[in-house]
Amino acid sequence: MTQRILIIGAGFGGMWSALSAMRLLDRHQRLDIGVTLLAPQAELRVRPRFYEADLTTTVAPLGPLFDAVGVQFVQGCATRIDAQNRLVFYRSASGEQSTLAYDRLILASGSQVARPPLAGIDRFAFDVDSLESAQQLEAHLQGLRHRPGSPARNTLVVVGGGFTGIETAMEMPARLRAILGHEVDIRVMVVDMATQLGSVMGEQIAAVIAEASDTLGVTWKLGSPVSRVDEQGVQLDNGERIEASTVVWTVGVKASPLTQQIDGERDAFGRLHVDRHLRVLGQDAIYATGDTAYAAVDELGNHALMTCQHAIALGRSAGNNAAADLLGVQPLPYSQPKYVTCLDLGAWGAVFSEGWERKVVLTGKEAKELKTQINTQWIYPPQATRDIALAAADPLIPVVA
Ligand SMILES: Cc1cc2nc3c(=O)[nH]c(=O)nc-3n(C[C@H](O)[C@H](O)[C@H](O)COP(=O)(O)OP(=O)(O)OC[C@H]3O[C@@H](n4cnc5c(N)ncnc54)[C@H](O)[C@@H]3O)c2cc1C
Repeated sequence: MTQRILIIGAGFGGMWSALSAMRLLDRHQRLDIGVTLLAPQAELRVRPRFYEADLTTTVAPLGPLFDAVGVQFVQGCATRIDAQNRLVFYRSASGEQSTLAYDRLILASGSQVARPPLAGIDRFAFDVDSLESAQQLEAHLQGLRHRPGSPARNTLVVVGGGFTGIETAMEMPARLRAILGHEVDIRVMVVDMATQLGSVMGEQIAAVIAEASDTLGVTWKLGSPVSRVDEQGVQLDNGERIEASTVVWTVGVKASPLTQQIDGERDAFGRLHVDRHLRVLGQDAIYATGDTAYAAVDELGNHALMTCQHAIALGRSAGNNAAADLLGVQPLPYSQPKYVTCLDLGAWGAVFSEGWERKVVLTGKEAKELKTQINTQWIYPPQATRDIALAAADPLIPVVA
């Protein structure tokens, strides 16, 4: 290997970057340029499913796929990026410090739920952001069956009424009943500082969320932020208190802290501003993709959201363009004008909308079938067969959900 493209992260952005870089190198028969991917595990963790009870199928192995296409996998966690010397420092699985040199770096280290410095949040609030935290929540919920019945035991508060909070809350009546029994008076409540239910999702979707909430018995407490979380519930800024043995925090998300180590402009979520080829503005050898990139999706002023829908296409584009840069061939501008939303509404169904104005196209059972297909098939890795996997990484393939 005389030159190396190094990718940090094995999520949607990282996996597709690796495949698309290999695809272009393969087409130019440049076996002297290698692709290395650094991540804690050679697996795609399907974060969009972490609000589900059964987490066993939310992890897809990537080892066989990387072997099939020739991506070198290095197990470890990046701790420092030295852009001047083109080095990434990392901690290996056994705890040793090592470095990897790169010619082009693709930062695909994703995002995390933002936990503000609020009393009790770190000790008492669960989240559904990572596999480990989702597993902790499920273990806690299973443990509730051994506690004596009380209103607090039977109450689950989801803090945050955005996309993740809604999907989590809507799933909870069924999850709690499966654990505590159908005769128990379950309470699931969304606490949101916004004054209107589902306002971030747009008016049309909000109406559907209201209907699903009514049917499932999910209630909303609007207009006040949470000021404190403790073992027995949450305290609101307006003085109200909600007794609950389970509090799930879903408010806010921030880009991976590695973005802070790269000189460049960042947006409010910490994402790095990139050009149309996903190269970080002001950097000649660093690309950002997935949830670490603040990227324009069209000529109309829309930007990628922190979604796997965008991360998949951003990944295919970043990998292609980093490889194109080393090959000295034309890069392809990233473009993803079509945007859809498919929001899971638990046992009620789902809602599917099209466009940035979120025009509702499908609801209920029909939308749920689509959501299930997206979440269990479309966003999973391609087959671990060289030709199939490389063909799937073509950056010109539109991502439709
Ligand atoms: C509960 C939930 C529901 C969601 N629902 C949807 C949905 O319905 N639709 C949708 O489009 N999106 C949804 N999302 C958002 C979606 O999951 C993210 O936008 C997507 O995962 C971003 O992909 P990514 O590759 O940028 O980052 P990630 O998937 O977060 O992957 C990041 C990778 O980087 C690795 N990494 C992190 N730090 C380091 C480091 N220091 N060194 C090495 N490797 C590192 C991680 O281990 C991981 O492999 C949801 C997210 C959650 C949590």
